Amino acid sequence: MSARRPLVIGNWKMNLDFVEGLHLVQQLGVLMKNRPVEHVDVVVAAPFVDLRSVSSIVESERFAIALGAQHVNAHENGPHTGEISTSMLKRLNVEWVIVGHSERRMHYAMSEEIVRETLAAVVRAGQHAVLCVGEELSIRENATYHEHVTAQLTSALHGLEERFHDLVTVAYEPLWAIGTGVNATSDQVREMTTFLRAELHERSFTSAKVIYGGSVNSDNAASLIAESDIDGFLVGGASLKAESFYAILRACDDCYAVKR
Ligand code: PEP
Repeated sequence: MSARRPLVIGNWKMNLDFVEGLHLVQQLGVLMKNRPVEHVDVVVAAPFVDLRSVSSIVESERFAIALGAQHVNAHENGPHTGEISTSMLKRLNVEWVIVGHSERRMHYAMSEEIVRETLAAVVRAGQHAVLCVGEELSIRENATYHEHVTAQLTSALHGLEERFHDLVTVAYEPLWAIGTGVNATSDQVREMTTFLRAELHERSFTSAKVIYGGSVNSDNAASLIAESDIDGFLVGGASLKAESFYAILRACDDCYAVKR
């Protein structure tokens, strides 16, 4: 039995101002120093305005936490009022960017085309793109979710040069599980992970990690990571408290140590 090194990303969404963000990272960093999670890549995707202070504390305290952003504009610069570019993020040591989160697709008109352009901009800047795909409840209920995520994947990855393939991670995030407290079962996650891996292999994304997001918490993380054949988690609500996020990291670390 072998396992790939897990990746866990905390998506703070529009929560925590920079003082609160600093506090959380400080607490998390201390927990991780007291008992390291040696086999997990840990990322926090903070709001834009928190990134500078979070980056400073991670650097000065040498916390094993990488920085992520929740979105970015695909353009390099110019007349895009209110937007942020990949180069601005790079200056803040942001290595990861979430692309096409369902909340952006749903509420901020992020079309498939914008998702594709954004993903391309992220990887061309040398950053890791975390492409979110997933179906709404109605699509799950009428059993067309395979077609739905395949279409999302095909569109987002279309035309991406092979040299950037290593920078792509896919997050399977069924919308009915996001922020609802109802996570997908291990069987449901495993089925989609297997399916997505096969789709990725077909497109020669052979090393892409597939992670799961949707109501992951300190109670369900251990069974999901052990039973679902996933490479980690994208965590919303449970990433807002150091203890619950750390418990998820621990579950992944322990599982990796057993499976390795
Ligand atoms: C998310 O927003 O990506 C997410 C998975 O949220 P939650 O963990 O709160 O369901």
